[in-house]
Amino acid sequence: MRYKSTAGKAPLTSLRGAVLRGLAPDGGLYMPVEIARHSPEELDEFRKLPFTEVCFRVVKPFAGPAVPEEALWQIVSETINFPLKLVSLSPGLHILELFHGPTLAFKDFGARFLARLMGYFVREETRPLTVVVATSGDTGSAVAHGFLGVPGIRVVILYPSGRISVAQEKQFTTLGENVTALEVSGSFDDCQRLAKQAFSDDELNQRLNLTSANSINVGRLLPQIFYHVAAYRLLPQTTTPLVISVPSGNFGNLTAGLFSKRIGMPVARFIAATNANDVVPEYLRGGGFHPRTSVATLSNAMDVGNPNNFPRLLDLCRNRLELVQREIWGHGASDEETLGMMKSLHERFGYVADPHTAVGVLGWEAYRRAFPEPAQGLVLATAHPAKFAEVVTRAIGSAPQLPARLAACLQRPKLSLPISSHYDDFKEFLLTS
Ligand SMILES: *Cc1c(COP(=O)(O)O)cnc(C)c1O
Repeated sequence: MRYKSTAGKAPLTSLRGAVLRGLAPDGGLYMPVEIARHSPEELDEFRKLPFTEVCFRVVKPFAGPAVPEEALWQIVSETINFPLKLVSLSPGLHILELFHGPTLAFKDFGARFLARLMGYFVREETRPLTVVVATSGDTGSAVAHGFLGVPGIRVVILYPSGRISVAQEKQFTTLGENVTALEVSGSFDDCQRLAKQAFSDDELNQRLNLTSANSINVGRLLPQIFYHVAAYRLLPQTTTPLVISVPSGNFGNLTAGLFSKRIGMPVARFIAATNANDVVPEYLRGGGFHPRTSVATLSNAMDVGNPNNFPRLLDLCRNRLELVQREIWGHGASDEETLGMMKSLHERFGYVADPHTAVGVLGWEAYRRAFPEPAQGLVLATAHPAKFAEVVTRAIGSAPQLPARLAACLQRPKLSLPISSHYDDFKEFLLTS
């Protein structure tokens, strides 16, 4: 598979080139040049074969020939060493829990895969690879855990001071080794800007081997196709159209959803479920695309004012609004609605949802009101409720159960370094540390 840039001015490259660069040299995002559909017979097999085998078959066309089969098999099987759970709340509403990995969020899929893939690609490099990642909460921990101890790679995490929960912060600031966390006095958008500026800084890129572990890196998105295929395997086989609600911030998850549809998964529509940062739902209503400063919400991993995968969504829909609208419907929920939904899910079904998942359910319910014809709803549950204990307690009156590995890291001291939101300070850090 060859990869092109969405900006159209960079040479085609292999998966290796796309993953090690992160952002294309023309500032665009790497995309597969063409995505092959699997035949109906192959899709049928996807329901029967072991899940690891299915994931391997799904990712192989995207990887070849940059990664030999044996190495790819190992990367895939190490990535998905944790369960996926489907919880059916009613015959028409299912929740796919993606948060049973080591850091309790769906980002473990992307980060574990990317870390292993990069580890494979840098085996023979002499200069260490510096992976820079901006996080609004969950990316940092998934990436930190995914890359911890991988030889030849150092990880630098930028996060907004005071804007993430204690549990989130402790998951990636207490590790040490090859992982450094920078506590930025600014917003998540500042962190994302610092990272982007570093990737397009020619001088810096000559002196360092720099790449991104954010969802601008196409290597993060490929393993996210896996759980859309898992949904296909786990859901009851019916002809009722499937609608998948995706709690969204940077829209990597939804981009991977479209990839899964392009390879043949039968999805009628996706719902772009956001919080008050509803730049994409506004675009889908025909109001134009107007990135703006993010506002802080209870579902903070989706506090993104300028979603960085938006060019990919456009590219997959041939840059035409009406084609995007055909595949994606949008809804933005307020914090009040989010708390209300968490309470209602608990009361109606005894289900404890984190705020991001609740935003997904709100998207689904809004969709039902707009389109009452029969449909099966699937909501992606993106984080474990224990990661957002304060919000859950506010919504349902009791704290969610804390999994042991989260409890353990809450005890450790935070090791992050404070830094301003000025690019020069960040660059200086990268060059001298
Ligand atoms: C990152 C994240 C999201 C948003 O995913 P995108 O791919 O950026 O749209 C949603 N929920 C949680 C819990 C997250 O960590």
